[in-house]
Amino acid sequence: MKLIGMLSDVVSALFKRPATTKYPYVKTDPPERYRAKLAYTASNCTGCMQCVRDCPTRTIKIIVVDRKTKQFVMTYNIGECVYCKQCVYNCKFDALHMTNKMWESAAGSKGGFQMYYGKKEYIDRILAETTNPGAQAAVSEEKQS
Ligand code: SF4
Ligand code: SF4
Repeated sequence: MKLIGMLSDVVSALFKRPATTKYPYVKTDPPERYRAKLAYTASNCTGCMQCVRDCPTRTIKIIVVDRKTKQFVMTYNIGECVYCKQCVYNCKFDALHMTNKMWESAAGSKGGFQMYYGKKEYIDRILAETTNPGAQAAVSEEKQS
C-alpha cells in the first residue's frame, strides 16, 4: 500500500512545475524592503557626521570637499556593511536610504566593494589620489523608497 502511494507521488511530481527557480538563469526581484545598497542624496547632506559615528562597522566616510557650500563625497564598503540601517534611521536630513539594489555583489578584491557617492568631478579627484582600481562610483543617487 505504501509503495503504491509513493509511486503515485512520484508520477504526479513528474507533471508538476518545480518549486525552485532556475537561478542564476532566471532572476526574480528581491522584496521591496530587502536591505542592500545604500542611496545617498548629496543635496540633503549637511556633513553632520552622525552616520559616521553610528555605523557599527565604521565603513561610512564623509569626505568634505567644501563645507561652506555643503559639498561632500560619501563612501562606504558594501562588503563591510551589515545592513543594520542604523545610518538611515539616524540621518536627520533624509540623505541616506536603503535600497534593494545590488544585492548580488561579487568582486575580486575588497576594493571592488568600495562605493563612492557625490559629484563625479570630486570622486574622480579622490580616486586619482587613492590606489583603489576596483572602486565603484555613484554620482549623487537621488532618494529611492
Ligand atoms: S548622510 Fe546624514 S548623517 Fe551622514 S553626514 Fe550627511 S546629513 Fe549627516
Ligand atoms: S547599514 Fe549599518 S553597517 Fe551598513 S553603512 Fe549603514 S550603519 Fe554602517
